[in-house]
Amino acid sequence: MKVLISGASIAGPVLAYWLNRYGFEVTVVERAPRPRKTGGHAVDLFRPGMDISERMGVLPLIEAKATGTTRMTVYREGKAAPATIDMTKIFSAVSDRHVEIMRDDLSEVYVNATVDDVEYVFGDSISKIEDDLVSFEHGAARRFDLVVGADGLHSGVRRLVFGDEPEYFIGGYLAVASAPKGVLDGEMVTHIRPGRLASRYGARPLDDERIAFLFRGDHELDYHYRDTARQKEILHSTYAGVHPQVDEWLTEVERTPAFYFDSITQLRMASWSRGRVTLVGDAGFCPGPAVGGSTSLAVLGAYVLAGELAAAGGDHTRAFPAYESEMGDIVRQSRSFALAAARTLIPTSKIGVGALVAGARLVSALPAGVSRALAKRGGKGVRMHDSMPVKDYQVALKS
Ligand SMILES: Cc1cc2nc3c(=O)[nH]c(=O)nc-3n(C[C@H](O)[C@H](O)[C@H](O)COP(=O)(O)OP(=O)(O)OC[C@H]3O[C@@H](n4cnc5c(N)ncnc54)[C@H](O)[C@@H]3O)c2cc1C
Repeated sequence: MKVLISGASIAGPVLAYWLNRYGFEVTVVERAPRPRKTGGHAVDLFRPGMDISERMGVLPLIEAKATGTTRMTVYREGKAAPATIDMTKIFSAVSDRHVEIMRDDLSEVYVNATVDDVEYVFGDSISKIEDDLVSFEHGAARRFDLVVGADGLHSGVRRLVFGDEPEYFIGGYLAVASAPKGVLDGEMVTHIRPGRLASRYGARPLDDERIAFLFRGDHELDYHYRDTARQKEILHSTYAGVHPQVDEWLTEVERTPAFYFDSITQLRMASWSRGRVTLVGDAGFCPGPAVGGSTSLAVLGAYVLAGELAAAGGDHTRAFPAYESEMGDIVRQSRSFALAAARTLIPTSKIGVGALVAGARLVSALPAGVSRALAKRGGKGVRMHDSMPVKDYQVALKS
């Protein structure tokens, strides 16, 4: 049975891995001309993502590429001394098993785990899907039994099959710029003001650094997604004068070789399958970039989709509803989590900023066992992504 996957980042290669192990014939088409290694940002793998990666045999490779960020130095308005946060304590409070890794490093590990058994077509994109016949922007049309969109928040497959599904603005904007290395080692420096947060961090495996901006306003901004000059202008008007160091970062934004800017939006599709086509990862159920555990959700979704297809012997009329039913509650919880996280991570008042920093300092000062116990007592809450169940599929694997 032939399956075409659009997108070779996280969900795509994980799905390709498991489908191949279950005996499906898999092709992955990726719009980028080659695996991406510039720009990008750090992502989190929580326990389910770690467990699935372990089953894939790639966990040591992932751990070897961890960012190595262990502390955050936070500067606030009106406070002469910065607060120091022990990031290892924060992560161990919210997760029993966690790694932070650059998205492109994680993607590379997953692609390398599949590249010998799966056909990868880089530099192309699906242009039309008519029953089992798929047309491409560049290559010749081909027949596939099933098509899966793993092509991210602004998915092309979703647009072709479902039309213009709304992406719900959840009150924030996100920008990332690459900057030269040499400033920080194992550290993230953060400046926070009501409604605005800017951070600069390195990552052990990277030969440059990232500056990330997270901000919210009271209305949606007017800009075109391709108008980088206007996006940089928005960053300047939002952050100029926050702190001399942030002004330096804005200078880096001007000369950065890699720049990303987007609103933080969430998908709320009641169903993400139609006929022979389904969606996985951000393409189908993005809770909001940088505010939820969407990378772990993408890995889990890919694993579940492959497992349900294998369990149903490739019958998508049974597998797709089973996949949606397995993921449904988890996706709804992650949406609520992201809405709350967007409010908490970008507080709009001085009191909110104070509470966020005080909470982080408290967790970082407590022994790890105590903060973990307190986080667990709060129910799923902050540990929502760690507690997503990973089902066992009793289907024979190809060796
Ligand atoms: C700035 C930023 C910060 C983030 N921080 C975090 C974080 O801290 N923690 C966390 O867990 N997650 C974070 N995320 C979210 C995380 O990156 C995503 O949840 C994760 O990458 C989803 O993986 P995916 O494979 O579903 O989609 P993506 O990683 O978006 O990959 C989609 C792939 O499809 C390809 N593609 C797109 N369109 C087409 C097309 N038409 N045809 C073919 N290929 C196409 C793209 O090139 C890409 O390779 C962040 C995201 C952003 C943008």
